[in-house]
Amino acid sequence: MTASPIQDLSRLCVHTITTRPWPIEEITDRFAAAGVAGITVWRQALEGRNVARVGQNLRDAGLSIVSLCRGGFFPATDAQQRQRAVDDNFRAIDEAAELGAPLVVLVCGADPGQPLEQSRQQIVDGILAVHDRAVQANVRLGIEPLHPMYADTRSAINTMRQANDACDQINSPHVGVVVDVYHLWWDPDLKREIERCGRAGRLFAFHVCDWRSPTEDMLNDRGLMGEGCINVCEIRGWVEQAGFGHGFIEVEIFSDRYWKMDQGEFLAKIKEAYLSHT
Ligand code: ZN
Repeated sequence: MTASPIQDLSRLCVHTITTRPWPIEEITDRFAAAGVAGITVWRQALEGRNVARVGQNLRDAGLSIVSLCRGGFFPATDAQQRQRAVDDNFRAIDEAAELGAPLVVLVCGADPGQPLEQSRQQIVDGILAVHDRAVQANVRLGIEPLHPMYADTRSAINTMRQANDACDQINSPHVGVVVDVYHLWWDPDLKREIERCGRAGRLFAFHVCDWRSPTEDMLNDRGLMGEGCINVCEIRGWVEQAGFGHGFIEVEIFSDRYWKMDQGEFLAKIKEAYLSHT
């Protein structure tokens, strides 16, 4: 069953990376004026700012802060590097609390110098190492499975099943999964694993964009919804049936192509693609 069309912008969240050329101050004004309801903040967008004040400004502008992006990168062959990752995740959790973001999105990491299974175990160990800090800060941690083309260095968790399995191992209400259609659309088990995630109450966030064909860059050639081959509407239906019917739908587009264009025009295109192809 395909989900019914989206009627309004009340669940639209936009990630700050999507309109990267704008500083966070301009993003705050522009998103609010455009009727965007939610925002995810990339940590780099906070550099040199008073994080608590940025959070207050976002709320004053009427924006809901959906998440802080990103923590993670736990695996490493070197123990000191793993400890540095844990320390950086402590900082990310503290920043999320200061900002007023209820969720830190985890790009979990991988080290090409060791087997993926070992990286996956180090991801679980790393999340367990920062878990109590997250509980104290009242910040949740969301494992975002990444497309397997990033399995060498960005994430050893590449499917919903692996993310669900990691959550089973960790077994905490503070740790769940971030579903991103760009990373997961190809997976034949996707529907079933989204259902499993929903049953466990662990579906924390939902990211949309599209897979351009051909994709010309592995990182920065994501498309607007409707521009590629992802069954975005259908996946949204699965996510909503799994209990995410009121959650934000977050547009996250890394695109050299769109970063070059006038960002005001781009934001108008995002709204249009959201209302007609999501
Ligand atoms: Zn994402």
